Amino acid sequence: MAWHNRTKIVATLGPASNSDKMVSQLVQAGADVFRINCAHADHATIAETIARVRRIAKAQHRAIGILADLQGPKIRVGRLRNAEPIYLKRGAEVTIDVTPGVVGELLADGSVRIGTGYRGLADDVRVGERVLLDDGNLEVRVHRVDGPRIHARVVYGGMLHQFKGINLPGSKVSAACLSKKDLSDLRCVLANGVDFVALSFVRTASDVTELRGHIKRLNGDAQIIAKIERPEAVRNATSILAVSDALMVARGDMGVELGPEAVPPTQKRLIDLANEARKPVITATQMLESMILNPRPTRAEASDVANAIYDGTSAVMLSAETASGKHPIRSVRIMEKIIRTAERDVYSRLGDRRRKPSSGAATVTQATVRAAAYAAYEAHVRLIAVYTETGGTAQLLAGERPPTHVVAFTPSMRTMQKLALTWGIFARKIRPGRTSHELTLDGDRIMRAEGLVKSGDRIVQIAGQVRETGLTNTMTIREL
Ligand code: PEP
Repeated sequence: MAWHNRTKIVATLGPASNSDKMVSQLVQAGADVFRINCAHADHATIAETIARVRRIAKAQHRAIGILADLQGPKIRVGRLRNAEPIYLKRGAEVTIDVTPGVVGELLADGSVRIGTGYRGLADDVRVGERVLLDDGNLEVRVHRVDGPRIHARVVYGGMLHQFKGINLPGSKVSAACLSKKDLSDLRCVLANGVDFVALSFVRTASDVTELRGHIKRLNGDAQIIAKIERPEAVRNATSILAVSDALMVARGDMGVELGPEAVPPTQKRLIDLANEARKPVITATQMLESMILNPRPTRAEASDVANAIYDGTSAVMLSAETASGKHPIRSVRIMEKIIRTAERDVYSRLGDRRRKPSSGAATVTQATVRAAAYAAYEAHVRLIAVYTETGGTAQLLAGERPPTHVVAFTPSMRTMQKLALTWGIFARKIRPGRTSHELTLDGDRIMRAEGLVKSGDRIVQIAGQVRETGLTNTMTIREL
């Protein structure tokens, strides 16, 4: 068996890829986690997609994670008359009317009226502020707010399609973090057993704790990925991360809200913060954007994916490339190749110096995983085997960025699926054992059967006291 890359791939499913054949090929090409965008999927499709991924993962003996992305307080343009796009001319008058039921259209006097589902828009924007439409491709500036109507003039024009996003870069959006639709989507995805729930447009830590409360109330155990895209979220990143299980650097809306020039430094800062906290971080959006149409990425895109790896990201994500593009499988294959090449370079160039240990270890488990990573450097071992119940020890170990591959043995399929997002972890299922010795025998058998190790190989092994989760306290260097 060939070793998998350490940096994980998240692939978004959509019309171009949501079939048995495509999902199967995407897994073979290297996808580790599938993302379902709740903004674009109905509940029947969500249930069918989750069942499909689980079925295919089982057939291929792979632990594949499933991430449901909740829309959050995303503001969108409403319906346009006959679903026909409208051309916004520079200097033209545009009225955004938050009155329910408004259908957008070009009026006889040449001005344009559009609606939106977000009723609070007229209260949130101020005269003189910019409103961005369609991922910032179009811009209007507000000159009057009159009850439910926002009057603005087109600064950068172009074609406007219905349901495109609206961003208010200068305003404080007061919309609730979870809409009625989000709560109904949450019920659906938890009932179908997703591993991760991503929350869009998080502003503060309390947005995350509110979601966690709903997940608990619904008896779910999905992990929460906070999508950092709003300026407030960038400012509050440390407190948001403290209550989240992972972060997503959501560069699409971030680039609209903060300007594209703010994306690279913010990406690096968020990756550093997440790595320091030993939590996964996904770098997302436009990574291989040109492959939506073309069979090959631009050189800049290849560099972007590689640079995220040099930054230390846990995972990289494909959005429209796999959801609606012309080359979903090729996109994953090329991403896998870029990761493989970058990882090889990271290791050959930086060797043992590549990761400085973080400040003093605070717990027995942290001290144990650090000792294991150190031993792997010093003793030239083949791999590290970690026995983990919840995946917590494996995640801490990944945070040390050990030089060898890591096999995480767990009796829980759920833990395996969650570890699909964690850097460098290759999860394998073992039978629940009564003693550490029994677990180790099982682990050794699997590693030999899969050709991961052979007699005479040296490995590092980390284990705890069976049935006492959180008590990982032994690190052994063994010769098989
Ligand atoms: C983003 O904005 O970068 C993002 C990942 O969110 P979405 O694709 O849901 O807009």
